[in-house]
Amino acid sequence: MLYPSDLVAEALKLKPDVGLPHWQQGPTHCSHCARPIEAGDLYSTYKAGEFFSDTRDLAAFSGIVCWRCVHLRKKPLMDGLLFRLVTRTEIYPIATNVAKAWLFMTPPDGPFVITHSSTGQTQHLAWRTPVTLDKRLLTLRYGPTLYTIRPHAIRRVADLARRINYGQISWINPVLFDRKGADDAHGLVNPKALPMLQEGEREFLIGLSPGERWGLASVVHSKMPEPEIPEPITQELIAKLSPR
Ligand SMILES: [Zn+2]
Repeated sequence: MLYPSDLVAEALKLKPDVGLPHWQQGPTHCSHCARPIEAGDLYSTYKAGEFFSDTRDLAAFSGIVCWRCVHLRKKPLMDGLLFRLVTRTEIYPIATNVAKAWLFMTPPDGPFVITHSSTGQTQHLAWRTPVTLDKRLLTLRYGPTLYTIRPHAIRRVADLARRINYGQISWINPVLFDRKGADDAHGLVNPKALPMLQEGEREFLIGLSPGERWGLASVVHSKMPEPEIPEPITQELIAKLSPR
């Protein structure tokens, strides 16, 4: 079993905080990432702050966290992982459309964790995001929501969008999107695109997942961002986390 806290700890070369106690009781689990905690393992008790609203996503009600999640609960790391792809060795920024086009259409091999703030503000993301093992089905946390995205579906919509817009003067998006997913029309097949769709394409567009519709809003539109691998920010983040 691979936990999201494993990937973050490996990429950032995290070490346990000095002075953490050793668990003395029977086997239990990290309340955040679900990792088993057994007698002798380092842990920390945890108290939910007054504004902690993510109780529903806790993996267990053990009242303790593993040493890795001690780090994941700290503000510098929460802020450092707001728009990220976390692999075992590198952490990539994915806030831009070109980075999203890369990740959603041509993802690297797993395992990795994808986190995306829904507010731009500090959020608990990494510990409650399942690890993506197979790059054919991405799991992504968007604030309180867990999304799944099939890269082949994103590529198909991009190809379809290029085809129906070939020779058009003004851009016709195959599906109406709203980047926040809040507008009533979000996800509807564009009536202007309907006459240009081939057999089965309307059904395919209707069947896109909520995560795919959200992702497409960034990568399929009149600008059609070309996929671009972002520069990792791993070292920058390590430098920010290390005590001065
Ligand atoms: Zn944990």
